[in-house]
Amino acid sequence: MADYLISGGTGYVPDDGLSAQQLFSVGDGLTYNDFLILPGFIDFTSDEVDLTSALTKKITLKTPLISSPMDTVTESSMAIAMALMGGIGIIHHNCTPEFQANEVRKVKRFEQGFITDPVVMSPRHTVGDVFEAKVRHGFSGIPITETGKMGSKLVGIVTSRDIDFLSEKDHSKPLEEAMTKREELVVAPAGVTLKEANDILQRSKKGKLPIVNENDELVAIIARTDLKKNRDYPLASKDSRKQLLCGAAIGTREDDKYRLDLLIQAGVDMVVLDSSQGNSVYQINMIHYIKQKYPELQVVGGNVVTAAQAKNLIDAGVDALRVGMGCGSICITQEVMACGRPQGTSVYKVAEYARRFGVPVIADGGIQTVGHVVKALALGASTVMMGSLLAATTEAPGEYFFSDGVRLKKYRGMGSLDAMDKSTSSQKRYFSEGDKVKVAQGVSGCVQDKGSIHKFVPYLIAGIQHGCQDIGAKSLSVLRSMMYSGELKFEKRTMSAQVEGGVHGLHSYEKRLY
Ligand code: IMP
Repeated sequence: MADYLISGGTGYVPDDGLSAQQLFSVGDGLTYNDFLILPGFIDFTSDEVDLTSALTKKITLKTPLISSPMDTVTESSMAIAMALMGGIGIIHHNCTPEFQANEVRKVKRFEQGFITDPVVMSPRHTVGDVFEAKVRHGFSGIPITETGKMGSKLVGIVTSRDIDFLSEKDHSKPLEEAMTKREELVVAPAGVTLKEANDILQRSKKGKLPIVNENDELVAIIARTDLKKNRDYPLASKDSRKQLLCGAAIGTREDDKYRLDLLIQAGVDMVVLDSSQGNSVYQINMIHYIKQKYPELQVVGGNVVTAAQAKNLIDAGVDALRVGMGCGSICITQEVMACGRPQGTSVYKVAEYARRFGVPVIADGGIQTVGHVVKALALGASTVMMGSLLAATTEAPGEYFFSDGVRLKKYRGMGSLDAMDKSTSSQKRYFSEGDKVKVAQGVSGCVQDKGSIHKFVPYLIAGIQHGCQDIGAKSLSVLRSMMYSGELKFEKRTMSAQVEGGVHGLHSYEKRLY
């Protein structure tokens, strides 16, 4: 093995550790826990580390993080939060095409401070309904429209001032008798800037400002409390029209073409062809179809875990590859189907092949810690997709509940019987059309409350930057070129090394991460 010179040092030091090529040449499949990265030389601060990375051939992100298209992970509020923090969310497809397209539309139309899907009621709703909404959503003023929906004529607003002094016997009263009427409301016209709206709110001293179009129909509201919270998102992922980026998952069946048309109308930036084994004639045909009909749309193929699988999708024209089979936290694919691959090996093998064609790789699943993100990126992935790590945040779909005093949210595999009972789209990911017997490939469980993405993702970003600093890589592109040149050194981790690397020997401890 060649020795190398440490610049500015006193002489040669023996070569130490394994290059990635050596690490993966043995043939054993490796998971993220099976190896470590040897530290390098630091001559920069961690906040200088640039995490810019390619998502697809044409889209670049400032934060290499993606939320998974799962119905307990990504709908519009997760996708908005992820895009604001510099990553992207992929809206799941375990729902009707219309619902999914509408979630994409909410992300694309998102304007900071403007709430476009608030709780709205009609004049026929009752005071009791408002009290119930107060319990469910927290109370801060409910706009009243003719139909009780957004886009309908604004007729009033109910604030706590209108109902606080009403008694139990008033609960059946219709809101038209309790609300503040349209004539008394201060509103702003659609198109108003956030700054103008802020000024109007300040002058009016109200808590809520309804925004109406030229027909006096409600299009958004602005809350004073939100204005106070507004801040800049310098990393935000945006398109050329300054709208947040959003992805969506689809299948490869005939009716997915209709779903695709609706997603395009909603402004989707990329689609992920959602399959646990993507190397199929169905996926190749779908890639050809999309590339012919919507040449500008970025298409992610997968999932794949070998170069041979990747080749077919690259030849068909994919703009990125999603890598992982059987490594997800909720996944029983390897157990049931006998197919799959340990994720470290999958990421290295596919990325090493795909980079020759300029196709970025998404390391999907099995990310349990921020260290795993660093390892995935060090093995050649350009971005990382997460399910369980982002589940049970405020922005994940679903309500919190308590079990044994612990605050939880549901998290389930899209191939679990639970998810497949909900609609047919996740059945399509995990079953063939003619299958008569369902074979689950995932489980359903719960994850402990993690708070908001707005706190959790900054922790992940800072953690990745610290990891890169220890390695001596000032950017993710430096990290990748260090790996491919053999400068980046790895070492296998025995079982006892893994025990040593975790907390040990304590009677008890508390693990707080940020
Ligand atoms: P996690 O980040 O380890 O929780 O893994 C999330 C990933 O697992 C997703 O992005 C999917 O690729 C994969 N996945 C989702 N649902 C299932 C399932 O039911 N079975 C197998 N894999 C799944």
